[in-house]
Amino acid sequence: MRLRLPTRRGPRAALLAAAGIALGGAIVGVLRWQLWSSGVPEVSAPPVDEFFDSSQLLHNRSYRSGLWTMAILAIPIAPLVAWGVAATSARWAPRLDRLGRGRVLAVGAGVGAGLAVVIALAEIPVRLARYLWGRDFGVITQEPGAWILDVAKGTGLEAFLLGLVGVALAALMWWLPRAWPVGLAVMIAALVFGTSYAGPVLLEPVFQRTASLQDPELRGDVVQLADDAGVSVDEVLVNDASARTTASNAYVSGLGGTKRIVIYDTLIRDAPPAEVRAVVAHELAHVARDHVLKGTTWAAALGAPAALLIAALVGWRTGFAAPTRDRAGRLLLASRLAWAALGATLVVVAAIPLGNWVSRAYENEADAIALELTGDPAAQVALHQGLVVRSLGVPDPPRSVQLLLGSHPTPIERIGRASAQIEGAE
Ligand SMILES: [Zn+2]
Repeated sequence: MRLRLPTRRGPRAALLAAAGIALGGAIVGVLRWQLWSSGVPEVSAPPVDEFFDSSQLLHNRSYRSGLWTMAILAIPIAPLVAWGVAATSARWAPRLDRLGRGRVLAVGAGVGAGLAVVIALAEIPVRLARYLWGRDFGVITQEPGAWILDVAKGTGLEAFLLGLVGVALAALMWWLPRAWPVGLAVMIAALVFGTSYAGPVLLEPVFQRTASLQDPELRGDVVQLADDAGVSVDEVLVNDASARTTASNAYVSGLGGTKRIVIYDTLIRDAPPAEVRAVVAHELAHVARDHVLKGTTWAAALGAPAALLIAALVGWRTGFAAPTRDRAGRLLLASRLAWAALGATLVVVAAIPLGNWVSRAYENEADAIALELTGDPAAQVALHQGLVVRSLGVPDPPRSVQLLLGSHPTPIERIGRASAQIEGAE
């Protein structure tokens, strides 16, 4: 028996969307079971005033509530712009087709790069507000010229990459008018893995300079900790974060041969060696548990339900018929690409809390392993106290903010994990 899809566009789109949601739920269920953190005990957060001075926190809270407001205001910008572009395709598509001299791939490049630029322009006010806010509070130290250059470089890079994505998706939609969502799912997975692998060597250097960690004592510590963690790290780098911010941090990125740990130069400058050691141990724990690979796998696997949802939106708005091999077909293709872009922005927005939920689990695991590696919970407590002070953090952000935007456990939760160990040892 052959499965028959409804022929009318509404029911057919609804069916595709339902399949996308069901598949997404199933994948989340499997990965939550198979690719989660393990053996991390729950700890409760201690009272904030045991660790922080409440008058200092007032200042931090006003800085952070501004940041949260701006982050939340920024979320709908890309979907709104993409919707505006898709809804007006009858106006711009004929011009784009003329500009591209009737070539299918030029239509794809134009829609992709054009959308990247329009979205970047629409986001400038909120990005500028965030920059000025950070300058006002002294957390952002980057000069205006350098900031503008970074925004321009970022926009250029996005236009180039989304132009390529547009070309590929146009080719799929044109030559595989029925099966293109399958191609899109494969393309998303390839892009996610490609970015994870090549990002550290191709994208990160556009925005920061890095050098090998020089400090011989710290290097020795890293080698020792890596040994204890049972991982080999070829690259420990220090970046030039001090050119942009007073905040300190560290991260791991890359897969296989591009795997590296990057420490902010601000951390080495501002934090005592025991706290830097605690950070390094945390990053090594990410490496030991393959968190970059696991996170990349989450994102890549969700490409399939994302492609179904995008196909549902495209079909609902523009039908499911194959584009005719003429100008009308190319205009339909341009419109489909724009609706697909709207679908992609909606999926990305929906994935924000999901991605942060997964991230918090890995961060919790890295904290727990770091405590074992260093055997120095006091340094971990001092580290998070220092990070809150230097980054104007809030140890206990509102629950809604944490669920939506929190990529890490809250500082007071992280302090709670470490201080539970101190108490346990007493
Ligand atoms: Zn981490």
